[in-house]
Amino acid sequence: MIYTGKNFVKQVKPIPQNLELAPTLARRVFQLRELRNMTVKDLAKSCRMPIGRIEDIEYGLETWLSTTDRQVLAKALVVEPVLLQEVETRPQLLNESLEREIKLREITEIILQGRTDLECLDCGHTLKCSIQHGYDIEGRPIQFAKAFCLKCPFILR
Ligand SMILES: [Zn+2]
Repeated sequence: MIYTGKNFVKQVKPIPQNLELAPTLARRVFQLRELRNMTVKDLAKSCRMPIGRIEDIEYGLETWLSTTDRQVLAKALVVEPVLLQEVETRPQLLNESLEREIKLREITEIILQGRTDLECLDCGHTLKCSIQHGYDIEGRPIQFAKAFCLKCPFILR
């Protein structure tokens, strides 16, 4: 704290330009906390989060934050929220989208084999499947699998 006239102003140094920021959320939160000279307890207190929550983040158990949590944490660490956001990862969502991609390819294969009795990935209802014929850019005939759900907006093209 520094005393300026009647007001106490919290002295916060900007992040040094030459500082190499840690590449993961866990390490970056730790790094910024150290830089701000705060203990886990201090940080938890100023974020109004349980200490265990800060520990989860620093141990890498939590790898992404909600918008509110990010803002609160960034404010406590006196940085822009984007400095945290840029190192957040959502492994769960990545896996989900990868899984879906694999399922869509499977469906495509099955339709091209001539099956039409498939279920919608999203709702389990009947899919209307068809094979469309076309030509690739070199004029060779190719087949496309098409499908749409009779009940929900699912569509394969
Ligand atoms: Zn459906």
